[in-house]
Amino acid sequence: DDRISRITSAIRVIPDFPKPGILFQDITTLLLDPVAFKDTIDLFVERYKDKDISVVAGVEARGFIFGPPIALAIGAKFVPMRKPNKLPGPVISEEYSLEYGTDKIEMHVGAVQTGDRALVIDDLIATGGTLCAAINLLERVGAQVVECACVIELPELKGRDRLGDKPLFVLVS
Ligand code: IMP
Repeated sequence: DDRISRITSAIRVIPDFPKPGILFQDITTLLLDPVAFKDTIDLFVERYKDKDISVVAGVEARGFIFGPPIALAIGAKFVPMRKPNKLPGPVISEEYSLEYGTDKIEMHVGAVQTGDRALVIDDLIATGGTLCAAINLLERVGAQVVECACVIELPELKGRDRLGDKPLFVLVS
């Protein structure tokens, strides 16, 4: 698929960001290329349009870029999953472990209900900790997580294994 090669070439890799030794995958250059950005959204929409998805849950911050256009195109609601203390209403939160310490994501109570069919979206999966926490949050409120989707997977970190039997769809590995 030449859409995948266009997307791959539009992602910039920045060495030593945010820390020495890390090769940061930067999707902001993908957003600068309207053809590659549209290809990205189209590929997700083609995959999810007939899957009866009722909610697209986007993980802060870059899940907020890819999630809403997909949600609009497939006729689903968009729900932001945010870093702690950002959402103004009552929240349900889920802690997850990082290399050093822990982090948390939060979602508004009532945004997702029992019976909702969810797609979780983020720009990238590394260890899988973030997506795992997102899945747990959605399942705690009774939603069914149909699939997780990312633009990029770093396969050497085996994040996919951490998702257990939850399917993961990625464009670039
Ligand atoms: P994980 O929880 O280890 O899978 O890390 C995934 C989270 O970290 C996602 O929310 C990503 O946006 C972010 N992340 C980790 N590495 C990168 C990177 O190289 N580029 C962009 N985001 C990254």
